[in-house]
Amino acid sequence: MENIIFDVKNLNLFYGEKQALINLNMQIEKNAITALIGPSGCGKLTFLRCLNRMNDLIDGCRVEGDILIEGKDMYKGDLNVVDLRTRVGMVFQNYALYPHLTVRKNIMFPLENLKRKDRLSKEEMEKRVLDAAKMVSLEELLDRKPRELSGGQQQRVAIARALVKMPRVLLLDEPLSNLDARLRLQTREEIRRIQRETKITTIFVTHDQEEALSISDLIVVMKEGILQQIGKPQEVYDQPANLFVAKFLGTPPINVFSGKVTDGQVKIGEETVLLADLPDQEVTVGIRPEGFVVDEDGTFSCALKGIEVLGRDISIVASH
Ligand code: ADP
Ligand code: MG
Repeated sequence: MENIIFDVKNLNLFYGEKQALINLNMQIEKNAITALIGPSGCGKLTFLRCLNRMNDLIDGCRVEGDILIEGKDMYKGDLNVVDLRTRVGMVFQNYALYPHLTVRKNIMFPLENLKRKDRLSKEEMEKRVLDAAKMVSLEELLDRKPRELSGGQQQRVAIARALVKMPRVLLLDEPLSNLDARLRLQTREEIRRIQRETKITTIFVTHDQEEALSISDLIVVMKEGILQQIGKPQEVYDQPANLFVAKFLGTPPINVFSGKVTDGQVKIGEETVLLADLPDQEVTVGIRPEGFVVDEDGTFSCALKGIEVLGRDISIVASH
């Protein structure tokens, strides 16, 4: 359990009558970057909000089950909510920076609002701001106003503002969705770098599977409030738990055929595509685009529909 930060146990969440999370059980690793992925509305943000009890602020929201953070029950009262949120910082998708404040003052803001017993001296606050700014490479920009920054830099200010309280965990809601394509690539590398350097446990929500596969150590795939699979990106890609996961990951997507197994041969129509030690049955056959090898003498034939040249890749579009 030592490397586990969150241990989620039989978690169910309701908005009034509607159940948004259904019996979630999982363990999330410390010092790693974990992506929560799945289609819009599947409960990613809802689950993220459970991890620092932000859902307490939502009328009619009810939670059953529990989450342990480093062994402490979050929902059963081992930890008060203020302490929890100091440990678990969050950056919202629509993070608002204060336009009239400098970057320095924006980052300092959470420290200025600490309750009396936790208040820091002016010097300590300055030092914390500088440390947080350095982590996200903003130290040169501390005297600027938000409007003098690019979208990616503003995003980094929002992250620094969360880091300044020195949380154990950083939660990010769709951190890249407000950025244009080029900046997204750059900023996602930035987030990876920040995570590697600070080792801070980071959990982020995205609906973009490529983003998730490229920068995370672990991915959690959800659908309609139900956990589908949790694992290393490559493992989930290579060994999807079900057809939904197989289809959700990968561009171009996996090719799906209905087939059957007869005498140890997996067939699509009458053509054998694989040998497998399975009893005779109807099956669904999924083949990743890169799983095909062009071979004139191969057993599987299809009709060419077109060729797409995409710079690095060439896609053959065909039907069976
Ligand atoms: P995702 O982040 O995967 O897009 P959400 O967690 O935002 O999904 O939403 C999951 C489900 O819960 C959706 O059906 C959504 O409509 C519902 N939901 C989210 N927030 C609220 C809320 N504050 N009140 C009621 N229903 C909500
Ligand atoms: Mg959403």
